[in-house]
Amino acid sequence: MDRKIFPLILLFLIVVISCVSAGVSPYREGSNTEQVTNLTVQDEQRLTKEALPKILKDYPPAKNQELQEYISALGMKIVRANKLEGNPYHYTFTVVDVADINAFAMPAGTIFVMAPLIATASNEAELAGVVSHEIGHVVARHTAKRMYAMEKAQNKTWLYAAGGAAAGAIVGYGLGRLICKEGDSACHAKAALWGGALGVGGGLLAQKYPFLVNSREDEMEADRLGFKYAVAAGYDKDQVGKFYEKLLEIEKSGNKSGSVIIKNLSDAFSTHPPSEERVRQMNELAAQSPARKAVTNTPEFDKAKQIAVAMKKK
Ligand SMILES: [Zn+2]
Repeated sequence: MDRKIFPLILLFLIVVISCVSAGVSPYREGSNTEQVTNLTVQDEQRLTKEALPKILKDYPPAKNQELQEYISALGMKIVRANKLEGNPYHYTFTVVDVADINAFAMPAGTIFVMAPLIATASNEAELAGVVSHEIGHVVARHTAKRMYAMEKAQNKTWLYAAGGAAAGAIVGYGLGRLICKEGDSACHAKAALWGGALGVGGGLLAQKYPFLVNSREDEMEADRLGFKYAVAAGYDKDQVGKFYEKLLEIEKSGNKSGSVIIKNLSDAFSTHPPSEERVRQMNELAAQSPARKAVTNTPEFDKAKQIAVAMKKK
């Protein structure tokens, strides 16, 4: 061994060992051991419990039992394959009966998927990718941290949110600050548009619940975690990132005003902003992941999609 390098390696080992023995736990992606805030699992459960009555009013569970059982089985399959159940959260997955195409995660494992998203997904692997992405938001505590910060700032928007178009412009401005790079005026203009013009009739998820708006960094992290979870659950690595890629393509190609699909998808744009860098990262992850026998679709998905399509509101 090179005599100059050896002391360096020894020093490195000493530092690593002393960190471990001192119980220092630096931030690890997807771990919930990080101590940036004092947020506890009990806090997370409380925040969800406080916000849930209003959310369930705005996003009522779909009444179709088969559809609920399907999303629950799909979500729990991913959770169990990744040993996440009870570690530390208990997960629930619910289909909600609204006209938008989106999914969202509340702290401590409460995940919602809007029925039209199931109707829009091409196969089960694609849907599993979206569900896994939401699990990623839970594990990385993205929503929890924002709600906790709002609570600390005495700004409990989940209790007092007015929603609707009136608040649109202000929310659009806030959205831009969250999701856009500084100085990216095109991005800010887009955010203002989502917040304003599209907020008629109850408003976007982002307007009603600003704590559900994810930053670019949060989205990139949820994508990485989601990719890992979906592939570990046996899903096709080349399909699990496709839904958000589709989102970006639709946004780029079809930004014609009044388009029904854009109007419905604008909800997803507002809380899970798609971007070139997200698509690039997903493609890189897929390319690095070894090829193996994997699930792309199931007859159960086709049945669930049929039910969701039949429910789809105009
Ligand atoms: Zn997201």
